Amino acid sequence: MKIPKEIKDIIKTLNKEGFKAYIVGGCVRDLLRGEDPEDWDITTDAKPLEIKKIFPDSFYENKFFTVTVLTKSKNPKLKEIEITTFRKESKYTDKRHPDEIKFAKTLEEDLSRRDFTINAMALEVLNKKARVIDLFNGRKDLKNKTIRAVGNPYERFNEDALRMMRAVRFATIFNFKIEKETEEAIIKNAFLIQEISKERIRDEFLKIINSDFPDKGIEMLRKLGLLKFIIPEIEEGYGVSQNKHHIYDCYTHSLLSLKYAAEKKFNQNVRIAALFHDIAKPRVKKGEGPDATFYNHEIVGAKMTYQILKRLKFPQKDIEKITKLVRYHLFYYNVGEVSESSVRRLVKNVGLENMEELLQLRMADRIGSGVPKAEPYKLRHLKYIIEKVSQDPISVKMLKINGNDVIEILKIKPGPKVGEVLTILLSYVLSDPKKNKKEVLKKEVEKLKTLSEKEFKELYEKAQKEIEDVEMKRDQMTKQKYWVV
Ligand code: ATP
Ligand code: MG
Repeated sequence: MKIPKEIKDIIKTLNKEGFKAYIVGGCVRDLLRGEDPEDWDITTDAKPLEIKKIFPDSFYENKFFTVTVLTKSKNPKLKEIEITTFRKESKYTDKRHPDEIKFAKTLEEDLSRRDFTINAMALEVLNKKARVIDLFNGRKDLKNKTIRAVGNPYERFNEDALRMMRAVRFATIFNFKIEKETEEAIIKNAFLIQEISKERIRDEFLKIINSDFPDKGIEMLRKLGLLKFIIPEIEEGYGVSQNKHHIYDCYTHSLLSLKYAAEKKFNQNVRIAALFHDIAKPRVKKGEGPDATFYNHEIVGAKMTYQILKRLKFPQKDIEKITKLVRYHLFYYNVGEVSESSVRRLVKNVGLENMEELLQLRMADRIGSGVPKAEPYKLRHLKYIIEKVSQDPISVKMLKINGNDVIEILKIKPGPKVGEVLTILLSYVLSDPKKNKKEVLKKEVEKLKTLSEKEFKELYEKAQKEIEDVEMKRDQMTKQKYWVV
């Protein structure tokens, strides 16, 4: 087992001062699974102020008896190490926070207040090896892929109802099953999740969403009766059939879209949008059977999405982005059929920075419908049009000189000639961008004075053709970039 030197040093230092110290919790579980721990936690019988005294580079915020020690490590996971004094938790009258947290005398007490057996192991660091302290058969459960509460699951979920969601989270990210008695206790106590702060619920929800199999996590939340207290709107789609264009009910389709988004490693916002994009369908459904309709589901769905995410205390930026994705997920696009100006309008509504995610959502939606393809050609073509309408136009506005300058130098009146001169200058600048300087261009205008009317016209026509060529080449390059013809 690879235990970093920084961790060993902290433990040795505590031992030298006469204190016990162990690596504990999630990091022991991860080490035994052969994974790199996300963070390292140490537990000790030293009291916070004693820890602080031993490690001058540390701070104590008087919260949960945890002292944070700063190390000199370059590894971000090892820069701050949390050391927590052995704790036990007393009564939870509000099902949220322990009424008070008490110091414990022994490691045994500390381990028994932890949530699941796989999270309740400690590691004693000896001279050359390490010994696992496993009082609740966590290693066996790890081997059998089982999430099992430490002690009586009913009591444990009554103390802290978030543990029920943590059970689902660990089962989802590790692809474990929840042991029977623990599972039954969740089903019976699911309603207690309502007592938990929305922020804590959101954080667990996001860990499920960002896992490899988030659809399984959502389905587990539903089966255990938790979903209806967390995001009941998702459950409204359960068993709600669609129409002749769909083979799955609304709920199943949403989960399959989410599944695809995760398979494609799409980001958190796209995953949530995939789960939510049809959330309003049950509410706007008209009729039954093959001709049922869902008019305005994207508009009602965007409103619902906004409210749900607000309720779950998401950051405003994410709320707005996901809401937009849901609002515009139905955009219509067909090669040659949809005009550039309607694409321009879509880009304006959704924001250029969100277009990639909107297209990803569309792919997730398509695959989640059970159709064989995610429309790759059509979407690539749309990407091409999006880029095309978003490019800066090639125009005389790019020049560092304007019509007034031309009028002044040539001493002519405003008229078509001014535009023709600028067009000639533009062709120069396109073939040599370094020429786009006021002084250089002024000199070029001076040179035009010496041309005859016929020579000027020829030069102007040549310039027009060159500009057209550049525009065509740029268009071809954009097409090549997206593999469209
Ligand atoms: P991750 O870091 O991936 O979220 P973790 O298991 O390390 O997983 P943390 O929230 O970091 O979870 O908590 C560290 C340890 O503290 C857990 O492994 C567990 O032993 C204990 N713990 C955390 N939350 C609770 C809780 N709500 N009830 C009981 N014990 C908990
Ligand atoms: Mg952790």
